[in-house]
Amino acid sequence: MNPQQITVLGATGSIGISTLDVIARHPDRYQVFALSGHSRLDELQALCLQHQPVFAVVADSPSAKRLQASLAAAGSKTDVIFGEDALCQVAAHPEVDTVMAAIVGAAGLRPTLAAVEAGKKVLLANKEALVMSGALFMQAVAKSGAVLLPIDSEHNAIFQCLPGDYSRGLEHVGVRRILLTASGGPFRQTPLDQLLTVTPEQACAHPNWSMGQKISVDSASMMNKGLELIEACWLFDAKPAQIEVVIHPQSVIHSLVDYVDGSVLAQLGNPDMRTPISHALAWPERIDSGVAALDLFALARLDFEAPDEQRFPCLRLAREAAEQGGTAPTMLNAANEVAVSAFLQRQISFVQIAGIIDTVLSSEASTAVTCLEAVFAADSRARTLAQQCVNQRGEAR
Ligand code: NDP
Ligand code: MG
Repeated sequence: MNPQQITVLGATGSIGISTLDVIARHPDRYQVFALSGHSRLDELQALCLQHQPVFAVVADSPSAKRLQASLAAAGSKTDVIFGEDALCQVAAHPEVDTVMAAIVGAAGLRPTLAAVEAGKKVLLANKEALVMSGALFMQAVAKSGAVLLPIDSEHNAIFQCLPGDYSRGLEHVGVRRILLTASGGPFRQTPLDQLLTVTPEQACAHPNWSMGQKISVDSASMMNKGLELIEACWLFDAKPAQIEVVIHPQSVIHSLVDYVDGSVLAQLGNPDMRTPISHALAWPERIDSGVAALDLFALARLDFEAPDEQRFPCLRLAREAAEQGGTAPTMLNAANEVAVSAFLQRQISFVQIAGIIDTVLSSEASTAVTCLEAVFAADSRARTLAQQCVNQRGEAR
């Protein structure tokens, strides 16, 4: 059998690197067709030299020229192209079988949709793409026949705990609820008054997972769980009320499905993204991921607690946006991206993230999303208002 051709969008990131680690373990099964990076050009160059893709995609023409010259000097035949259209091109290329969608944030929407529309096997890490375009994204999957597999560890766990025919509807396959686990992040027990002064470094120091900066801050605010709640509604055709968030600080149970007969199925594993990545790459088969076997005796205990919405207002805001539907999740996601970026640049405090999102969501009533232009228009309105809030709040500090 010929190896599957893989495009890794966001190859220089945390998920991209883990994906390439798994791919390198199985050269008989997988070959890298294209890799993309954005700011980390040196890392992209090293990955290109290791994996020898047909294409590398970067942000702009000067970066493309620079990378092309250094790759050629090293004897590589990789063709370097640039921009969003190039990302879409390598996502939809006829020679590609599988696309890992691991760009962070709204920047990943168009390339991920291009892979979906071309009917690829799409491994979805870029949750923001699905959150912002929801119904349109799922309609595109249904129309093209793309195989959409979740990489987010919780959604991958839920997928593994659901029967193969879950798309008949959760009630029809006997599901009572989905239990979405959350670690609670680095601030689960931080005294509330200290949250006013926590730094980006503290927010990014996740107790269990090593991840990119944006998702690390989202985990600290629990907006990550809010985005995941919306993601789960779309992936599994669930209502927000069918999904319960459970804090589980060890991050060993990656999520659970509760059935009407009282059975609760869970997926467990060490917190290492190579497990869901391997699962989705090889599905429906299983391959070695390089992840160590789970040692239950060393673990000894598993703890659970209910989330505290006073501590984590982002979770409530995301649930409200999920219930409203339409443009609300799009605006929630956009406002969050702006606020998180401002927090990382020390322009606002950690607790102001939720306040800015709340202001943006309260600024207009949610409307139905009928086309991609409406998604980008809502995204843009939310970003403008969120940025105004950042400017005002930054001054008020
Ligand atoms: P990283 O920040 O580590 O990586 C992000 C990737 O996207 C990098 O390759 C980066 O390029 C690229 N990128 C950033 N901005 C742009 C842009 N404007 N245009 C094109 N490419 C861009 O993030 P993660 O790997 O942690 O996360 C990626 C996605 O996966 C996110 O949506 C996240 O929510 C999701 N996810 C991540 C998990 C994890 O464990 N890390 C777990 C579950 C989901 P460069 O670095 O070269 O600038
Ligand atoms: Mg997750």
